[in-house]
Amino acid sequence: MKSLNDNVAVLKGVGTRKVEVLQTLGISTIYDLLYYFPFRYEDLMVKSLDDIVDQEKTVLEGTVASDPVVSRFGYKKNRLNVRLLVENESVMVTFFNQPWLKDKFITGEDCQIYGKWDQNRRSLTGMKVLNLKDNSGDVDSVYSVNKNIRQSTLKALIKQAYDEYQDEIHDFLPQSLIAKYKLVAEKQLVKGMHFPDSVEETDNARRTAIFREFFLFECGMQNIKHQDELSKSGVRIKYDQKVLTEFINSLEFKLTDDQQKVLAEILKNMNNDTHMNRLLQGDVGSGKTIVATIALFAAVTGGYQAALMVPTEILAQQHFDKISAMLAPYQVSVDLLVGSLTAKQRQDKLARIESGKTNIIIGTHSLIQKDVKYKNLGFAVIDEQHRFGVDQRKELRLKGENPDILAMTATPIPRTLAITTYGDMSLSIIKELPKGRLPVETYWLRSNKMDQLYDFVARQLNDNGQVFAVTPLISESEKIDLQNAEAIYENFVQVFGAKYQVALLHGQMNTSQKDEIMQEFKEKKIDILVSTTVIEVGVDIPNANVMVIFDANRFGLSQLHQLRGRVGRGNKQSYCILIADPKNETAIQRMRIMTQSNDGFVLAQKDLELRGQGDLLGNQQSGLPNFKVGNPVTDFNILQAAQLEAQTIFESDPNLNNNENKMIKLYLKQKMESAGNFD
Ligand code: ADP
Ligand code: MG
Repeated sequence: MKSLNDNVAVLKGVGTRKVEVLQTLGISTIYDLLYYFPFRYEDLMVKSLDDIVDQEKTVLEGTVASDPVVSRFGYKKNRLNVRLLVENESVMVTFFNQPWLKDKFITGEDCQIYGKWDQNRRSLTGMKVLNLKDNSGDVDSVYSVNKNIRQSTLKALIKQAYDEYQDEIHDFLPQSLIAKYKLVAEKQLVKGMHFPDSVEETDNARRTAIFREFFLFECGMQNIKHQDELSKSGVRIKYDQKVLTEFINSLEFKLTDDQQKVLAEILKNMNNDTHMNRLLQGDVGSGKTIVATIALFAAVTGGYQAALMVPTEILAQQHFDKISAMLAPYQVSVDLLVGSLTAKQRQDKLARIESGKTNIIIGTHSLIQKDVKYKNLGFAVIDEQHRFGVDQRKELRLKGENPDILAMTATPIPRTLAITTYGDMSLSIIKELPKGRLPVETYWLRSNKMDQLYDFVARQLNDNGQVFAVTPLISESEKIDLQNAEAIYENFVQVFGAKYQVALLHGQMNTSQKDEIMQEFKEKKIDILVSTTVIEVGVDIPNANVMVIFDANRFGLSQLHQLRGRVGRGNKQSYCILIADPKNETAIQRMRIMTQSNDGFVLAQKDLELRGQGDLLGNQQSGLPNFKVGNPVTDFNILQAAQLEAQTIFESDPNLNNNENKMIKLYLKQKMESAGNFD
């Protein structure tokens, strides 16, 4: 019996060596081969000069106007120039390092050339000379191969596999979705991806392939989510609404509509049996902390312990100060658990946590260390969750009886990514900032304009402002980074030292040194704080109103936005000054976008677009799944539709028993058993 799971060795011309070579491309079965899709297509239809766009790859047809000339340049390099007459216009075609093509051009004869068009010079960089007779204007698929196998060989093998196994290709997508989205059947998909007869056929096949890829991925996500909900019911926290309302009414500000909305989502989730696994997204300064505080308090009123885990000690201390003060009138006991405690202090805290004397525990990753035992942890918040790994989130979960988890992020992940990466989490989003905030004004200066910077800083200091100056971690060596920060610090001292206090904060200082400096800055004993990026997350200093970022081109958009979020928290007009001499177009774009937008969601989306698909998908650290055909950024609409459909299916048929969903079930089962093989 034939099966797509058959080894490629069954094909003619595939011996042990070929099997090995194919394996280097990740291909071992017929299925792998059939779904090894081209990464691009060449449209071999001849175009008219008027229709070609600058830098487009295209086919030109013309008459050879004069004999080709080969000339040498550089070391071992050469170029071949040939002049063509195309639609009565003389067009220069240049091939690099392919002198042998000379014989293909005979003055007065017609030819077709595939190449890249330069609109300004009206010339073509040739890539291929096409065979005039064979070219029927088709689309040609191009595969990514390595030096051990040629395009043509791979293509022939795929053709052979398709011819022999096409009847084994079955639809994974439910018929109703194929109809609804005007997709093509699986068999047409495979054919259209590899051997299209027209651009339209490739387009339909690609659209289907992308939908299929996203859809099956989302089904996997939904599956995890449902298994999770079915197998492990969470704690039900019966919080005291009356006390909470009292607490909320006692705050010095009114919660924004968005804060109220997400709070309702969180509380509802806490008060039912399903386990909460929720991501709270909100731009810097959108007021996530108070939402988290109310939720932590809610858990305590329901009789549970609650924890808040943050990435740095500075942040833990800051949250501890604020939260314990806010909850002091309600007899809630809050404890801080961080690495810098003495052994004795630590023992003491651990005892309090285990006995249940502590209601709310705030700390760094020390919260999940082995010797920390909770009495009854029912709810945990993870702030700046992207700083923690999935494992750490899981460990926190294991510390209680499957406590509800609220992860928070101030790096707004565009919906695209949230759906793909956190598809198993529920989403709560705060979009609006508290009223009355003045947007931070952002300017970009080149480094030869330092006098302008100093003038500006002088005016701000004179006006009672406070300045952050941040330098990036550039090198692998902390020493060099520190020297960089020190040099900037010296400059500020030279210019402002006579009148103002300048201080330096860096990663090699110990916690108490850092805390001391932060405290003095908070109390306005320091006017200018030069710092390596240690202040990046969460720090709340309302009076600071100028953020100077040196070598700003070294930071990504999200990071720049985070840093900018350190100012603009009070009622003074705030400024962010980017000092940068960007060398490439994307870095220039980043600087421009920063000066134009204050919206973290917009910036995060732009960040992804600028990084491009290659980077985005190649970057394992981003935690993104490795899609082969679809690009979550540019194919966002398809991703969204696929997500919605997967969700709908699992809502009505969580165990995939309907006939239409059987193939999805099979797919997921096999995926789990053997990463990627099917029959
Ligand atoms: P983030 O979302 O970045 O963690 P914070 O929780 O630190 O933001 O909030 C930023 C500042 O805004 C804090 O000083 C906080 O007290 C204040 N804040 C929060 N919510 C409101 C609100 N509804 N109205 C006014 N100020 C608020
Ligand atoms: Mg915060």
